[in-house]
Amino acid sequence: MKMNKVRALVTGGASGMGTCFTEQFKAAGAQVVFCDVNVEGVSATQDALGVPGFVADVSDEEQVAALFEQAAFAMGGPVNVLVNNAGIIRDGLLIKKDRETGALKPFPKSKWDQVLAVNLTGPFLCMRELAHRAIESDVPAVCVNISSISKAGARGQSNYAAAKAGLAADTVVWAQELGRYGIRVGAVAPGFVRTPMVESVPAHVLEKLVKPVPLGRVGEPEEIWEAVRFIVSCEYFSGRVVEVDGGLRI
Ligand code: NAP
Repeated sequence: MKMNKVRALVTGGASGMGTCFTEQFKAAGAQVVFCDVNVEGVSATQDALGVPGFVADVSDEEQVAALFEQAAFAMGGPVNVLVNNAGIIRDGLLIKKDRETGALKPFPKSKWDQVLAVNLTGPFLCMRELAHRAIESDVPAVCVNISSISKAGARGQSNYAAAKAGLAADTVVWAQELGRYGIRVGAVAPGFVRTPMVESVPAHVLEKLVKPVPLGRVGEPEEIWEAVRFIVSCEYFSGRVVEVDGGLRI
């Protein structure tokens, strides 16, 4: 899709990669709006980028429907590019054994539920809304799912790895089901990228994580944008995941 035809919605746009994607869509001549749950972040990002932002939780069915209405109103036409970017981490071992007492602490179900809700149910709800509206108005559309290198499995990330693997699988499913309507679906699986999510990891842990990266560093949000832009632009791309991870395998 040509950038001057794009009406994009970026979820989780008040921080990290979401802010970068929003800014880059605008710079490329597309129309763009974003959403986030962080109320102050939405207002600050809206002011900084000069792009409409909406407070919405992607895991809430009604809020997602309202968001697509607001987005279409703000851009003067229905959303035709969705970037399913909003995501959270709530890491921990399935069973943690206390080194001193030997006590066993099971991973809380609430943290499993939170991550699945935001990282997998959220993209499902947004994709469903995009597809419904695009099919109804008979217009082409593109969805870019932000998965993760953790989709291959990562210690301490039962919830996150399951959600990101599920999102990569649904990228294939949705591409298969929706191609006939002119809707393309792709995904990007980033490695470690310099955003608040990664900056929250203690320095000594991050150093260990980055050591096995062949390119020897974390990625920059702009480098992930290159893959997002490719998926939006390339009319023959669908149902596949682009891995942008500096060559790292976990
Ligand atoms: P980030 O800086 O934490 O930004 C994510 C944004 O999404 C935050 O503003 C967050 O708000 C918001 N959000 C959380 N729950 C939401 C919800 N229910 N509805 C709408 N917005 C919500 O994260 P990032 O590092 O840029 O990551 C962006 C995406 O890339 C995520 O899907 C992440 O899993 C994926 N990813 C990141 C990396 C990395 O190294 N950074 C690597 C691979 C994949 P709060 O801050 O209030 O929670």
